[in-house]
Amino acid sequence: MSSRKIICAVSGKSYTFAKDYFDKKVTEYGDEDSLKKYFITRKVKGYLNKGYSVQEIRNIVSADDDSLPGADSQDMKDMIDMYSQFVEDKMITKGRERLIENALGLTGEAGEVSEKIKKLFRDNRIDDDAVLKELGDVLFYTVALSNIFGGSLVKIIELNMEKLNARVKNGTLQGSGDNR
Ligand SMILES: [Mg+2]
Repeated sequence: MSSRKIICAVSGKSYTFAKDYFDKKVTEYGDEDSLKKYFITRKVKGYLNKGYSVQEIRNIVSADDDSLPGADSQDMKDMIDMYSQFVEDKMITKGRERLIENALGLTGEAGEVSEKIKKLFRDNRIDDDAVLKELGDVLFYTVALSNIFGGSLVKIIELNMEKLNARVKNGTLQGSGDNR
């Protein structure tokens, strides 16, 4: 997935957008130059509407850097929705055949991640982007499967964080079994 960077005109923070999402934003802002010049995140827009000054917003946004799920979660959710549709559009099989293909695809791509990391041990170097590309393939099949089961990447992240936080709370982060 090719990506484009945009810098928020108020906060000065840089965002990387998927090309499809970038194109959607270009339409929203009229043209690419206007997008790059005037783009502000939804969160910043909210602060401006409440009457905060640019400097106040910059202070708030930089203080929020470590917070989850991010400075601009609505835009992130939009991007995830768009990626879900992007994956769906790439599906060439249906029903049971798709389920099998997606499940095999997921384990196959996970193997390709391991294959790249093997090279780090064998050759002492690794192309970071090559690993990231394989992780993207894992993500692709993860989203394809989640679409089948009525989920979304947002829901997967939320369920996973809930599960792991509960394990930390229960002191069962280490160990085995699905329900602990
Ligand atoms: Mg691959």
